[in-house]
Amino acid sequence: MVDLDQLVTKNFRLREFAVSAHHPGMAAAITFTEAEVEKIYLLCATILQPIRNRFGLVIVTSGKRTEELNEAVGGDDDSQHLHCEVGDIETPEADIEVVHTWVATTLPHAYGQCLLYYDKHLRPKRIHVGLPSRRIRSSLRVGYKFGGAFHPRPPNREERA
Ligand SMILES: [Zn+2]
Repeated sequence: MVDLDQLVTKNFRLREFAVSAHHPGMAAAITFTEAEVEKIYLLCATILQPIRNRFGLVIVTSGKRTEELNEAVGGDDDSQHLHCEVGDIETPEADIEVVHTWVATTLPHAYGQCLLYYDKHLRPKRIHVGLPSRRIRSSLRVGYKFGGAFHPRPPNREERA
């Protein structure tokens, strides 16, 4: 049995990747194989810990998902969350748009996808950032999700108004 309290890197514990605000019961059922712990380590060492070091607190809102949890949150059928390769993060101490641009430009070889999600008021909320994977079918490595679709650019001023 993998120890969920183990430190993965300086500021991240494994249990931070077994979370769901809306479905805590499903999150409590998440377990990790040793291979998945290695993937979480890579994600933290190459992406999340560098973000933490530069921008302060990083809250993981979704890490690994079971099939059941992925379905409950409306994730893609072949979401990287199912394969423990990605984190959805918020950065309460830093502007999330600045963090997204920093990751996209400063860590270009670390991620497979780096997507910024906006809420319905077009306020930037969280970043979905994951390891490179042959599973990724989209050609959009850096993207912005708003208005129910992915875009290669952030919303413009008229769209935000
Ligand atoms: Zn995600």
